[in-house]
Amino acid sequence: MFDSLSDRLGGVFDRLRGRGALNEADVRAAMREVRIALLEADVALPVVREFIDTVTEQAVGAQVLKSVTPGQQVVKIVNDALVAMLGAEASELQLDVAPPAIVMMVGLQGSGKTTTTAKIARRLVDKDRKKVLMASLDVNRPAAQEQLATLGTQIGVATLPIVAGQQPVDIARRALNAAKLQGYDVLLLDTAGRLHVDQALMDEMRAVADVTQPQEILLVVDSLTGQDAVNVAKSFSEQVPLTGVVLTRMDGDARGGAALSMRAVTGQPIKFAGVGEKLDAIEPFHPGRVAGRILGMGDVVGLVERAAETIQQDEAEKLAAKMAKGQFDMDDLRSQLNQMRRMGGLGALAGMIPGMKKAQAAMAAGAVDDKVLLRMDAMISSMTPKERARPELMNAKRKIRVAKGSGTTVQDVNRLMKMHQEMATTMKKIRKMGGLKGLAAMFGK
Ligand code: GDP
Repeated sequence: MFDSLSDRLGGVFDRLRGRGALNEADVRAAMREVRIALLEADVALPVVREFIDTVTEQAVGAQVLKSVTPGQQVVKIVNDALVAMLGAEASELQLDVAPPAIVMMVGLQGSGKTTTTAKIARRLVDKDRKKVLMASLDVNRPAAQEQLATLGTQIGVATLPIVAGQQPVDIARRALNAAKLQGYDVLLLDTAGRLHVDQALMDEMRAVADVTQPQEILLVVDSLTGQDAVNVAKSFSEQVPLTGVVLTRMDGDARGGAALSMRAVTGQPIKFAGVGEKLDAIEPFHPGRVAGRILGMGDVVGLVERAAETIQQDEAEKLAAKMAKGQFDMDDLRSQLNQMRRMGGLGALAGMIPGMKKAQAAMAAGAVDDKVLLRMDAMISSMTPKERARPELMNAKRKIRVAKGSGTTVQDVNRLMKMHQEMATTMKKIRKMGGLKGLAAMFGK
């Protein structure tokens, strides 16, 4: 799902990410491309507009974090806006009531409503260990009730016995009684569909809802119908008190417009995504994960989050100023090491930075782990302020003293000095290469 949108956005961000610095014109140019990508993905126009405005404003006004490139930061801003557009938090079914909890499924014919009813029933049984009863109220479509009974047999979930000629509201009452009497935790009601939204359908939905007072009313819509799905959802949400949406056929939906517009247009969270015909092909809808899948850049997003949490701005700025003058002393090295530790150590960093696999291997070979970072910190602490400012003062005698003071060996001190030297020369390149990418190159040696 979302394949073409992913590809388009991937291209835009790859071009942005390579830049060491971004100006407003870069951001605006990128946003023009993002806008086209979203429109091509069939996202509703007002939703696209708001999205682009939000992202542009934030990206242009963003405070630049020194340890990531501005391009990486833009990826993070777009990611957050996508998550917000999709509904921020994952919404679970709210079934914490005295049993039976009632879940009513509504939607047009062919949307996948009956299949989805069975999928949700199966999940509730398998995952949540609930005792579930299903009932079909669909007296319009021939054999609809039998279809649900057949699915029930396949997944081992009970269905309400069929009484020929009974009307939807009466079936709903009978189902409710049966669920109460027989101690079911959850009752799933599969209501009738129609080919189009019409008043008779809405009246029937409301009558059933009045009688059963459902905890959840889930609208099932076919994601492949794009903006039609959004319009159907809008009509339903205006007439029936929906609690959420299930998008079916997401497995075939390469565009994703319905998913991306649904929340903004209807105010309803997407609770599940149907991803195939099989009865286990349903997933809870996690906006964060879906945004990650769309951008395909979860790594970068995590990296920027950590940088924002841990890097102290003034520290970074001080270092940048020194680096510009070609200075890099032991105190700078120490503050770099500390930043690395705060960001979860070298291992965590290595996993996140694209192309850092080689560096990871090198680190494993050289055993540069978090303990080593701590030892380096101890060695630097054992130096005098003068030695820290002018590392070239470190002769054999001083090295012995530092090794003793930090509980390490002279070899360790030598390694530290060598690391400092290498860093001092490569540090200058870092800014040009763009923050952490420079670090990756350095450790890759
Ligand atoms: P209803 O008329 O709304 O009850 O629709 P059905 O439940 O009978 O589903 C219609 C068709 O859509 C069936 O062939 C289902 O197997 C198929 N279907 C339902 N959900 C999905 C889905 O998430 N992915 C795919 N590929 N097919 C689905």
